[in-house]
Amino acid sequence: MNREFDSPKMIVLTAPSGAGKTTIVRHLLSKYDFLDFSISATTRAMREKETDGKDYYFISVTDFKIAVENEKFVEWQEVYVNQFYGTLKSEIDRIWENGKTIVFDMDVYGALNIKKAYGEKCLTIFVRPPSEEILIERLKNRKTESEAALQKRVERVKKEMTFEDKFDAVIVNDLLEVALKEAEYFVENFILGHPFEDFVEED
Ligand code: 5GP
Repeated sequence: MNREFDSPKMIVLTAPSGAGKTTIVRHLLSKYDFLDFSISATTRAMREKETDGKDYYFISVTDFKIAVENEKFVEWQEVYVNQFYGTLKSEIDRIWENGKTIVFDMDVYGALNIKKAYGEKCLTIFVRPPSEEILIERLKNRKTESEAALQKRVERVKKEMTFEDKFDAVIVNDLLEVALKEAEYFVENFILGHPFEDFVEED
């Protein structure tokens, strides 16, 4: 698909933690050249397989607070206690200067703040698992966290699941293949400025 827009746009994928949005984000970025990923700053520890400056900018809490003071963020959240995440204004400038559409991977509160700030320029997509139980199961299977950290995530997930109605589009991540097609549908119609209905898979 050709990029056919003359005003800058952005797409926010948001979800309860563990709903599989990162897989969808990666798929969209590899499929569409006109998209570029906004690399957030975070104070959480780097996980295995993550790269500093690619997945996140991993920084200290002190540096994060200095960046907040200096108004470097368009939005930021303390997603977990002492784990800060923020969208750098410099990322938005960098990507729009390159003529690309920005893709964000963000928690629900950050997504709502970005939508409020950018309105029509911004498409918010909420990715949700088929059920809360399945999501909690997926989180446990991920085994990247300690028991205490996992518990914090579960509590947050329950709250985040109530936010679905506040977003422009919803993807139910049951079968990944279908979820990826739904994501493509929303992105393409948003870029082309076409209205979209709820996604209905063709036979
Ligand atoms: P994780 O630690 O699993 O990478 O991310 C935890 C949560 O923080 C996820 O919901 C992720 O989307 C969110 N997140 C990542 N970057 C940002 C950001 O820049 N701003 C906000 N508000 N949330 C973010």
